[in-house]
Amino acid sequence: MTTATHTATLTDTSLRSILTVAFFGVALLFAASMAGSETIHNAAHDVRHAAGFPCH
Ligand SMILES: [Zn+2]
Repeated sequence: MTTATHTATLTDTSLRSILTVAFFGVALLFAASMAGSETIHNAAHDVRHAAGFPCH
């Protein structure tokens, strides 16, 4: 019983962590891509290419 509860708690924590990180990642990408500063935009663009993310 205790083990099952612990496992469920760990799963909930992991899922919450993944969702939180994913949210901030998407928010950061969105903010950087819409940034007025060309420097911030180019920096985000370079990171995207370095990560191998398809861009253009
Ligand atoms: Zn590109």
